[in-house]
Amino acid sequence: MTRILIGRNLPARVVEAARGLFDVTYRDRPEPLDREEMLVALRDYDGALVTLGDAFGGDVFAEAGAPRARILANFGVGYNHIDVAAARAAGLVVTNTPGAVTDATADLAMTLMLMTCRRAGEGERLVRSGRWQGWHPVQMLGLHLSGKRVGILGMGRIGQAIARRCHFGFGMSVAYASRTEKTLDFPAERLASPEALAAAADVLVVAVPASPETYHMVDAGVLASLRPHAHLVNIARGDIVDEAALIAALQSHAFAGAGLDVYEHEPLVPEALRALDNVTLLPHLGTAALEVREDMGRMAVENLRAFFAGEAVPNPV
Ligand code: NAP
Repeated sequence: MTRILIGRNLPARVVEAARGLFDVTYRDRPEPLDREEMLVALRDYDGALVTLGDAFGGDVFAEAGAPRARILANFGVGYNHIDVAAARAAGLVVTNTPGAVTDATADLAMTLMLMTCRRAGEGERLVRSGRWQGWHPVQMLGLHLSGKRVGILGMGRIGQAIARRCHFGFGMSVAYASRTEKTLDFPAERLASPEALAAAADVLVVAVPASPETYHMVDAGVLASLRPHAHLVNIARGDIVDEAALIAALQSHAFAGAGLDVYEHEPLVPEALRALDNVTLLPHLGTAALEVREDMGRMAVENLRAFFAGEAVPNPV
């Protein structure tokens, strides 16, 4: 029977579904696979269900030699932790779970937009501290979102879902930067560069995948283009934003605030960032809802099933 490693703790229904199809070894733990575990996954299993933090770099495939494994089914749409070219060269197919994550991640972007613009994290800390002295007309004034302009960096599935929420829900105008022009059922202006987008946006939202091309795409220059009242939200991956430059910009109040779900050296969040009041920090909650994680798991298992049934995998990367 086909041997599959499930490399991380998952919702019970996903594990049951996999057990119905394969001889499953279930590693019911929250931390990523270490190097030895990744090598075992490649050498001793026919396939593995892996996820964020499992750092399958080129060196791991090189050390594994000619692996037994023929597929890595990634749980998640982002697969920047896997060197896909090296996986292919070693004879493996890599799949992901696009679509299942879109609405939940877009909702989380809206959460962060509202939290940073309306200073909700700061306000919550104030109430919990016992130092709140009561409502007054100019207490903790933030940025009113309705009617403002969102700038979407990366107008893909999640970027478009965020834009729709902004346009239809908040009456916001939409600008974006993407490699290609998009046909949309709502008005949106495509701008030429991340700098131009930052300069035009009241809220700049990062929604590009992590890749060598997008590494530090939001650098000091892009951050300097944000206007003083503007906010930055990152729901994509931490290393798309130059975190040191972001900390410096927030320390000098170069723009109004930021809302982050992801970090450059996750799960490390620098003390300098944690010390700032003008940033909202969430622990990578983008898809953190049971039904969403079950959908993601079902997609990953379906990719495994299709592969071993000799069918085309639904979600190759
Ligand atoms: P997607 O549909 O592939 O969209 C990505 C968009 O980024 C596309 O519009 C693409 O442009 C654009 N893009 C890619 N490379 C670019 C570049 N070098 N310059 C400019 N634009 C570029 O992906 P998605 O499903 O929306 O997911 C986006 C990312 O969100 C994932 O890769 C993942 O890292 C992250 N994510 C985070 C969470 C979380 O928990 N916080 C959850 C889910 C996903 P074109 O369309 O023109 O090619």
